[in-house]
Amino acid sequence: MARLSLAERLEILADAAKYDASCASSGTSKRNSRDGKGLGSTEGMGICHAYAPDGRCISLLKILLTNHCIFDCHYCVNRKSSNVRRARFTPREVVDLTLSFYRRNYIEGLFLSSGIVRSSSHTMEQLIEVARSLREDHAFRGYIHLKTIPEADPQLVERAGLWADRVSINVELPTDAGLARLAPDKDSGQIESAIGRIGDAIVEAKDARKRFRHAPRFAPAGQSTQMIVGADGASDSQIIGRANGLYDRFGLRRVYYSAFSPIPDASAVLPLRRPPLMREHRLYQSDWLVRFYGFSATEVQQATDAEGMLALDIDPKLAWALKHRESFPIDINLATREQLLRVPGLGTRAVAAILQARRHHRLRLEDLGRLTRSIARLRPFIVTADWRPASITDSVDLRARLAPPPRQMELFG
Ligand code: SF4
Repeated sequence: MARLSLAERLEILADAAKYDASCASSGTSKRNSRDGKGLGSTEGMGICHAYAPDGRCISLLKILLTNHCIFDCHYCVNRKSSNVRRARFTPREVVDLTLSFYRRNYIEGLFLSSGIVRSSSHTMEQLIEVARSLREDHAFRGYIHLKTIPEADPQLVERAGLWADRVSINVELPTDAGLARLAPDKDSGQIESAIGRIGDAIVEAKDARKRFRHAPRFAPAGQSTQMIVGADGASDSQIIGRANGLYDRFGLRRVYYSAFSPIPDASAVLPLRRPPLMREHRLYQSDWLVRFYGFSATEVQQATDAEGMLALDIDPKLAWALKHRESFPIDINLATREQLLRVPGLGTRAVAAILQARRHHRLRLEDLGRLTRSIARLRPFIVTADWRPASITDSVDLRARLAPPPRQMELFG
């Protein structure tokens, strides 16, 4: 077989990396301009965006070292039994690509993952070599995110954090049973042990740097993980519970969700259709409620239906409020920040603005109208100087009044 050019391999390995949810842009609808109409695409591969530790949005070259793999995870397009074009970079090639993209100002960093070749430890060594060479041989100061392989020698997994800004290990599926069924080569205990060791190393490095200014950094941007949604039968409630357990036990920076997408020659154990992208979006919103809005995971789980699923037509905060009407209405002029954050339609910025503005005068509905997108959505849940919702908060048809009108179902796709 003719050797593939660098450009061909880049195309294959950038495309193969698209299933790793590391980006701030996941969850949007698919659009492109291949038909010659319009400009741009939401489906382009190779460069993704992530947030740096200082909050900047940065562009990353996102590729796999190789899409060869000796494992056979059913949900993965790169699995051993998959009939896809294979390609491979050497560590040196990835280093050169990163540097040349960086010098052209296309990227500010690298997101590198890999299928497993020869052995987990061998692959991990290659990934580390890319990061080491960039840092040591080329004094590369850009951002590096390394996907690490939990089955590799623990010392190698830990070495990754010495060169990378962020490391991540995918838990892959929300439940142990799902992992055992769909990723028979993986072991949830091994994955969690590796995440735990990295978490410990991050904490130890931070402590050491408080005492010794020159102590080595270790994954200063923390660690994250990814769960595939919709490949097994896990409910949203189970997913929220698992994510929360990971945040609590390992201090993860982010849990990313990736809606399962059917792959060519898919295994018969997988669903035929992908879950609605809105499901992924609702899970991110629920994650937000726990991390920034003061909700406990149990409270977010209370927003799910009898099957443990979040509503797709309304967001989880509104779903929670509709089930806890006894907590409303909330007086905008007297409520604490924590109470205001529970009002559907009020985001963290609007709440900060309310707290600031009410120091000067009692707020009226028109004041809130300037801070939020939809005052109609707020009315049933608030009291202002000139508004009290009377019986609306308890009305039987409140959900129907607040939910967006149903849209035509997609016929295809
Ligand atoms: S180990 Fe990773 S690359 Fe290999 S089949 Fe499983 S998910 Fe895919």
